[in-house]
Amino acid sequence: MLAYDFGPQHPLRPERLRRTVALLEIAAPQLPVVDPGMADPREVLRCHSEQYLETVRCLSEGGSVETGIMEESGFWSGDNPPFSGMYEASLAYCGGSARAADLVVKQAGVAFGMSGGLHHARRSQASGFCIFNDCAIAASILRERHDRVAYIDIDLHHGDGVQWIFYDDPTVLTYSIHESGRYLYPGTGFVEETGAELSAVNVPLEPMTTGDTWLMAFRETCLPALDRFQPQAIVLQLGCDAHFLDPLGHLQVSVQEYLEAVRIVRDLGLPIVALGGGGYEITNVPRMWVGAVLTLLDEPVPASIPDSIPAEWGMTTFTDPELPEPRKRGWAQAEEVVATLKGQGSLG
Ligand SMILES: [Zn+2]
Repeated sequence: MLAYDFGPQHPLRPERLRRTVALLEIAAPQLPVVDPGMADPREVLRCHSEQYLETVRCLSEGGSVETGIMEESGFWSGDNPPFSGMYEASLAYCGGSARAADLVVKQAGVAFGMSGGLHHARRSQASGFCIFNDCAIAASILRERHDRVAYIDIDLHHGDGVQWIFYDDPTVLTYSIHESGRYLYPGTGFVEETGAELSAVNVPLEPMTTGDTWLMAFRETCLPALDRFQPQAIVLQLGCDAHFLDPLGHLQVSVQEYLEAVRIVRDLGLPIVALGGGGYEITNVPRMWVGAVLTLLDEPVPASIPDSIPAEWGMTTFTDPELPEPRKRGWAQAEEVVATLKGQGSLG
């Protein structure tokens, strides 16, 4: 998983995982940690084409592919430069999400595939730092046991890859709350994208929207959408780049508001496969993901970060001592989004 590395200049740094594990071992020592191994390539074929899998394998070994196939595969883009060993590294993060899904199918209440959450990958295309869509693979595994599976995505960015993979499938609800595609990659995730039988729900928010507004919009949309859909299991993408310190976007969510959304999902009482996702401010990612894991386990999130964590990692508390001011930014626009979703029947 640590070999999934686009290079030193790229914002998706393996160090995020290393520090999360370090903090997790101290803050949640009771948590069983399993080495998931690599995914079987056949698991990847649940959600990707054979040609694309072969392209990734070939580029990973330093081989070349036809220009047309290269362009289709998404590896020409600056976001996704092909790197040596990316095939194995991608199978490793997919393995984490697939084994988490297996555990939940076998009656674990919750499992966390930390290195997953790569929600932008398309059936035959790498996109937005994502090569294989482990979120879709996990949902597809849950779907074998459950008739209806909901995918909930609280990342800063629209969970477009998962949405498009299941767009015509009314048995998988894809829900995403994010900064509007009018301002941010991937440029999609509008309320009008509704999928088959309203099974895609999108909540786009204005830049600078604060966490109180974000949480209001989450409560008013996610809960009624799930109530209408009646899922039996959940894939929860825990991207933490909606945080106000994150360099890639403009939402103003605090750790405590993010954790409140996690608590709302936990309180549904359904089996949950939790996955990582975005998050590019290294002082945030470990404390937000460990806070999320503790919340999912229904354990208190401690006030301060343990002393044994190096001071240079820049974390002192789990939650944020100060919230962005003024509050309620983007409120009226968020209410409009809620009303539109209600009007088109997405919320029941
Ligand atoms: Zn993101």
